[in-house]
Amino acid sequence: MTEMQLGGAQGAVCQADRRFVDRGREARKAESHKEKKGDDMAQALDLPKLIDEVRNALAGTAKNAVQRLWGEAGPPWGTSFAELEDLAVQIGRILGQQLLAQAVPAQAQATPPATAFLCPTCGRVTASAEQPEPRALDTDTGPVAWREPAASCGSCRKAFFPSE
Ligand SMILES: [Zn+2]
Repeated sequence: MTEMQLGGAQGAVCQADRRFVDRGREARKAESHKEKKGDDMAQALDLPKLIDEVRNALAGTAKNAVQRLWGEAGPPWGTSFAELEDLAVQIGRILGQQLLAQAVPAQAQATPPATAFLCPTCGRVTASAEQPEPRALDTDTGPVAWREPAASCGSCRKAFFPSE
């Protein structure tokens, strides 16, 4: 293979790569358009910032739990690390479950923006149901249940949750 041929082959690969990259960029652009359209209903959470905001309070909660369980002396001598770890993990899950159980129903009380009531299938304006519907999800921290107003599209004969 001559250098010219090699260069040509590399050029072809480069072009193919560029096409691939461009397609990825297009996909991201489409994705960001979607985000823009839903700007008023969906905002990405800044997880590290939010966690920093409660880190000290959580340390206090953990201290409180240790005090409650064993007092100043801490766990009795000979308590295995593995058992303490199991306890810590289970308590962490309960905290997460409580956080979802309290945050999700609170959010469901918020008034969704008008765009949230557009039918996801046909885009028509829909009506919100009078009575909130029961919802339940299995999460990493366990099941969470709450009630939330649903909307239904008369044309598509489909019900949906504006929060989705
Ligand atoms: Zn519809």
